[in-house]
Amino acid sequence: MLEVKNVTKTFGGVVANKDVSFSFEEGQIVGLIGPNGAGKSTMFNMISAIFPPSEGEIIFRKQRIDKMPTNAMAPLGISRTFQNLQVFKNMTVVENVMVGRHIRTKTGTLRAALKLPGTKKEEVSAYDKAMEYIQFVGLQDLYDHLAGNLALGKLRLLELARALATEPKLLLLDEIAAGLNHKETKEMSNLIEKIRNNGTTVFVVEHDMDLVMSICDKIIVLDQGEKIAEGTPREIQSNQRVITAYLGA
Ligand code: ADP
Ligand code: MG
Repeated sequence: MLEVKNVTKTFGGVVANKDVSFSFEEGQIVGLIGPNGAGKSTMFNMISAIFPPSEGEIIFRKQRIDKMPTNAMAPLGISRTFQNLQVFKNMTVVENVMVGRHIRTKTGTLRAALKLPGTKKEEVSAYDKAMEYIQFVGLQDLYDHLAGNLALGKLRLLELARALATEPKLLLLDEIAAGLNHKETKEMSNLIEKIRNNGTTVFVVEHDMDLVMSICDKIIVLDQGEKIAEGTPREIQSNQRVITAYLGA
C-alpha cells in the first residue's frame, strides 16, 4: 500500500529524516514511534503531501505521490489528523465534519446542515453522511455544539470523524491520544481497531507505548531522523537499539 524509499528531509541545516525506507501492506495498524524530534511528524507531512521530501520517493498504491499537491491526497484516499488540532472553533461538530467531507464530495455545503429550502438532495446526503461518522466516534449528543466549546477528548474524536469523512484508504493519526485520560485512550484504541477492521489501513504516531504495543500489527522506529528498527510489537519491545534510544543511554 505504502512504500517510502530512501527519503531524506532537511530544513536548512536540520536533517529531520535521513535515508528512511519502509513499506507496509493494506489492512493493518502500523505504528511510527521514536523520541521527540525523531522526525515522525515530518514523515507524516511528506506522506500527506504537506511538503515534498528533499530526496527519495513515496509510493501509494503503485503511484508516486511525493510530487503531488496536498489537495490531491484526499481524492487518492489518504487522510490525516494533526498533532495540533485543526478544527474550526466557530463551527459546530457536524459542520466541521462536513468541511472534511466536502474535500471529497464537493457537495457538502453548510446550507445542508440548516436544511434550508432549496437544499439539494446530495447536500442533505452529505449531512447524513457526516452524522454517520459523528455517530461512529460517539459524538452524536454534541453534533450541534460549537467545536470551540468541546473538551480535548471530544475534539480529538471530532478530528477523527473529520478525517474519516473523506473515506480514506490510508488514515494517518498524529498523536491522536495525546492528553487523553485512561478511559478516553482505551476508547480511542477501540475505535482505531474498528477502523482497521472496517478496511482502512491506519498509520499511527503515538507516545503511549501501551496503546502502540496493544493495537499495532507492525511498528517502525525512528531516532534522530533515521529508522533504527522495524518489526512486531514483541520484536520492538526487546530490540536493544530501541531501548537505548528511549533511555538515552
Ligand atoms: P517528531 O514528530 O518525531 O517529534 P518532527 O518531525 O516534528 O519530530 O521534527 C523533527 C526535526 O525537524 C526537529 O528537529 C524539528 O525541529 C525539525 N522540523 C520539523 N518541521 C520543521 C519545519 N517545518 N521547519 C524547520 N524544522 C522543522
Ligand atoms: Mg510530532
